[in-house]
Amino acid sequence: MKHTDETARTVKTTCAYCGVGCGIVATPQADGSVAIAGDPDHPANFGRLCSKGSALGETLGLEERVLLPVVEGRQAGWDEALDRVARTFTRTIEAHGPDSVAFYLSGQLLTEDYYVANKLMKGFIGSGNIDTNSRLCMASSVAGHKRAFGADTVPGTYADLENADLLVLTGSNLAWCHPVIFQRIAAAKAVRPHMRIVVIDPRRTATCELADIHLALAPDSDVALFCGLLHALSESGAIDDAYVARHTEGFSAALRVARTIKVRDVAARTGLADADIRSFYDLFAWTEKTVTVYSQGVNQSASGTDKVNAIINCHLATGRIGKPGTGPFSVTGQPNAMGGREVGGMANMLAAHMAIENPAHRETVATFWNAPNLAERPGLKAVELFEAVRAGTIKALWIGGTNPVVSMPDADRVAAALRACPFVVVSDVLRHTDTTAFAHVLLPAAAWGEKNGTVTNSERRISRQRPFLPLPGEARPDWAIFADVARRMGFSGFGYKSAAEVFDEHARLSARGNEGARDFDIGGLAGLDEAGYDGLEPVQWPVREGAGTPGTDDKRFFADGRFYHADGRARFVAVEPPQDGTCAPFILNTGRVRDHWHTMTRTGLSARLSAHIAEPFAELHPEDARRLAISAADLVEVSSPHGTAVVRALVTDRQRPGSVFVPMHWTKRYAPSARIGAVAHPISDPHSGQPALKSTGATVRRFEAA
Ligand code: SF4
Repeated sequence: MKHTDETARTVKTTCAYCGVGCGIVATPQADGSVAIAGDPDHPANFGRLCSKGSALGETLGLEERVLLPVVEGRQAGWDEALDRVARTFTRTIEAHGPDSVAFYLSGQLLTEDYYVANKLMKGFIGSGNIDTNSRLCMASSVAGHKRAFGADTVPGTYADLENADLLVLTGSNLAWCHPVIFQRIAAAKAVRPHMRIVVIDPRRTATCELADIHLALAPDSDVALFCGLLHALSESGAIDDAYVARHTEGFSAALRVARTIKVRDVAARTGLADADIRSFYDLFAWTEKTVTVYSQGVNQSASGTDKVNAIINCHLATGRIGKPGTGPFSVTGQPNAMGGREVGGMANMLAAHMAIENPAHRETVATFWNAPNLAERPGLKAVELFEAVRAGTIKALWIGGTNPVVSMPDADRVAAALRACPFVVVSDVLRHTDTTAFAHVLLPAAAWGEKNGTVTNSERRISRQRPFLPLPGEARPDWAIFADVARRMGFSGFGYKSAAEVFDEHARLSARGNEGARDFDIGGLAGLDEAGYDGLEPVQWPVREGAGTPGTDDKRFFADGRFYHADGRARFVAVEPPQDGTCAPFILNTGRVRDHWHTMTRTGLSARLSAHIAEPFAELHPEDARRLAISAADLVEVSSPHGTAVVRALVTDRQRPGSVFVPMHWTKRYAPSARIGAVAHPISDPHSGQPALKSTGATVRRFEAA
């Protein structure tokens, strides 16, 4: 099927939700509805969709949309709104310097949107203060990749997961959060029954349906588990000494630390039985084709980066990277978390995977952009950024496509910061969210189905999001809004006429970023005309200039054992398990349910999706419930020094004693007292800045109405 079929009015596009990046065939119907189906030709999903993706057609109504700019609560024209934004940002910068302003963006934005916003902030305003909700998603993986490989990349492909003989799924409830990958794994296991699956998760999630072994470890004990694994690999003779000697540095130091951790120490720290630990270690030691998949349970931790490196250490030690069916594999939460990384849409990145701290990279980007004022140092990461807003250091903030008043930790403090901020701009698709309530200027942005651009999924595959609906009211694409404000601020280089022009510039810049052996290069996609851009087929990077027609074969890195550090060698990182925290009496874990996405701005519109789990809950072990005289369906208060949420008790032995799980989705609109972000602490990983959203010390008690 062609990407756009005028006769049948079908359009091929990419799902708006998770980082699997499934291809979708959308067919607008005569009655105004849109039929949604999986794209059988898309290499991420081969026609499969999950419940969220297949319900996308139910979330396209205009009832909730903001269709005109809103200034100070009244409808306004674009000129008035954008002049106000440009003037206020300019005056703030003149009075207080470039670091007095900031952008906080979203992994929902397309690569083209991110590219223009990043160019404006880092190249022309001259500040690194552009961060994103992707900080909450995979920043620890990025930091871990940089430490181990010398640059950020995901080495493998989805096919590696299907071809592994041992799949270790750690901190990753794929069945609910990345369902199509889970479906692919289930299908692979059905035809390769010798495949073993180990699930490492404090909770017995739906993913455990496929598990041969479930290790319900204590929260944040992952580093101990994987340090113990490195030690066990060494004891059992499973280290690939030749690979380690030829392709890595730092093994001795990492092993020296790991050797201090014996199986009995691992058992004490993780709460797992010796026998289960040994079964896992033996499986890992003697299964050559092993992939370790990880996501938020690893990343959203104060030791998230160390967890990532503890996992990568075990793959380097066994040489299980760069070969089919092997490797560490980070799955991204957001549909375009990877695309945001490509353009540098985070505070500590530049563009095209170049480093903001590197003078040569800054020179490359400044010259390419003809940027007068390129930022020279990283900006503030998400938690720091909102703290700077609260402290009054940041005086003008633009929030694009995200709802931090719900999703950020210590969310009431974020709300207080926005209330106190002299100037808040929000560009979004909805009129009323918990965050738009604080906007001095609200700008109507294009939504999924109207947007035109690209996203990149967890296996580095760039896919087109194509519009199949007209822009409603006066909504505009995000890239066009940022470019218009840039022009009004007097900056040149923002005269883009289309998303294709933005993509072309991004592709050309990527080809200049190859100092050393970096692989992020899509120079081969530069120079596409509008028709070529429209027809772009899903393709994994790199796509180098002169590479000819981009193939669709899976691309994996490091087959030759060369990494991105200057000497070509990967690095072991000598990580130590963190000291035990004091998360008594309960450890609060926040996460997702199957049929809702983030703050429900879209999935909340589908009755079918909302029917799966109708209201928020606190999942408690029966022993804890008994001790606290809590019965199933009682209302309970979950509290921390930061805030309180009231939700219904779900009593189940899927939960570890001493832990409580509460989903992150519900907002003031759907459940006024259930915003769990207000309870979560703002502690972050020191390397990545990723908040530890899975380990807040909390109390739980039965709710008594006053
Ligand atoms: Fe969309 Fe993710 Fe579901 Fe695929 S798995 S249909 S990308 S939500």
